[in-house]
Amino acid sequence: MQLLLHICCACCLCAPLNELKKEGFAVTGFFYNPNIHPLLEFRRRIKALRVFQEKNPVKIIFNEEYGLRDFLKNVNYEGGNRCADCYAMRLDCAASYAKKHTYDAFTSTMLFSRYQDHVQLKEISERLSKEKEIPFLYRDYRYLSEHSNEIARKNMIYRQGYCGCVFSEYERYKDTTRELYKGNSLQYKENEDTSGGLPAKSGGEICHCSR
Ligand code: SF4
Ligand code: SF4
Repeated sequence: MQLLLHICCACCLCAPLNELKKEGFAVTGFFYNPNIHPLLEFRRRIKALRVFQEKNPVKIIFNEEYGLRDFLKNVNYEGGNRCADCYAMRLDCAASYAKKHTYDAFTSTMLFSRYQDHVQLKEISERLSKEKEIPFLYRDYRYLSEHSNEIARKNMIYRQGYCGCVFSEYERYKDTTRELYKGNSLQYKENEDTSGGLPAKSGGEICHCSR
């Protein structure tokens, strides 16, 4: 059975891929993730998948176009449920591709993550399956999450720190206690006296630094 597997990075793929293969599926990966920002993070995740492929031969179709604009057009990021739009956007593309290229079914690594809304993903996938007349393969490999992470760690595969969009990056790090990433407004005040006569930056001032 030819399965199109939507993939957003290598983390949730490491362990479930073997399970799918054991079940006899011929798996083709499908990377389409306009939700991953900024650009260097997007490229990092593509690279992580390629590193994964070196040890785990699996065909993957990559859409390497950075999709920030598409994401902002299609996702109601100010509403309460931006993730539903984001899931639908990516799964719609995967389902359409699977239908067009006569795969037997589609599914996504998002369903293998403990951090995604599993129920919502399943509902959206089932709806798209009906609309596009392409079977959806439901598997719940969330119990393999830790194992997947272990494999990624051992193989030095990049593991991302946040879901993907700039909003998730903000939510992940806004209250971080890691020194490197902490806000520095307090420290800034302490340093004001050592500015050597340079005007201190005010809160709303725009930084003109070019890089
Ligand atoms: S759900 Fe998150 S951790 Fe899992 S493959 Fe997608 S981006 Fe990676
Ligand atoms: S948090 Fe993740 S699933 Fe939700 S909109 Fe952002 S990238 Fe998409």
